[in-house]
Amino acid sequence: MRLDLGSRIITAQRIFCIGKNYAEHVKELGGPAPGRPMVFMKPATSLVPPGETIPIPAHGSHLHHEAEVVVLIGQSGKNISESAAPAHIAGLTLGLDLTLRDVQSDLKKKGWPWEISKAFDHSAPLGTLTAFEESLPLNNISFECRVNGTVRQTGNTGEMMFSIPDLINYLSGIWELKEGDLIYTGTPAGVGPLKSGDRVTLHSDRLGMFEWTLA
Ligand code: ZN
Repeated sequence: MRLDLGSRIITAQRIFCIGKNYAEHVKELGGPAPGRPMVFMKPATSLVPPGETIPIPAHGSHLHHEAEVVVLIGQSGKNISESAAPAHIAGLTLGLDLTLRDVQSDLKKKGWPWEISKAFDHSAPLGTLTAFEESLPLNNISFECRVNGTVRQTGNTGEMMFSIPDLINYLSGIWELKEGDLIYTGTPAGVGPLKSGDRVTLHSDRLGMFEWTLA
C-alpha cells in the first residue's frame, strides 16, 4: 500500500506490532506485564485503507478490535537511541490490530505462533498518515475507538509502558528499521467483539478520524 504524506509517498513495508503495552489492557487479558516489548509481525498485505469494508475471517469466532497509534518510519536506522528516534519518524496515524481472540487463546495454550489469529488478510486497517513534526507530542496523543457510535476504547500514548522512542530503540536493536516500516504500538483496555455490519471509528484530535465497516 502507498502511504501519502502530502509532500512524500512511502510504500508500506513490514508491520511490527507491540502486544501488552498498556497496563489496563494487560489486566483485562490476564497474565504478567512483559519485562520488554512483546513483538509480533503482520504482512503489509494485511493493510486496509479507511472507508473500505472488512471481511470477517471464517477460521475463528471472536473477532476483536484493538485500536492503536501507528508510527511510520521514514528514515532507515540501526541501534537508534531514544533521543534520535523522532528524526526517524515520517508520520503517525491510527490503526486496528484485528485479532481472532478465540484462535489466539488456543494458540497461547499450545505455545504456537500467533500468525493465524493476528496476521490474516485485512487484519491491519490503517488510517491516513499525518506527517510527523517535532511539535506533535509523542507521549500525549489521545485517541478512541467507537463501534456503531458507542465508545469502546480510550487511550493516550502517555499511558504506554514502552513509549514510541523506547519501541524504536528496541526494534532497531534487532532489525535495521527501513523507510516504510510501520509500528502498531499496542492497545489500551476495552478490546471487544465485532460482528457483521458493525461500523468501527477511530478518532484522535491530533491524527483525524477513520472508519471501516464489517462485511
Ligand atoms: Zn494489538
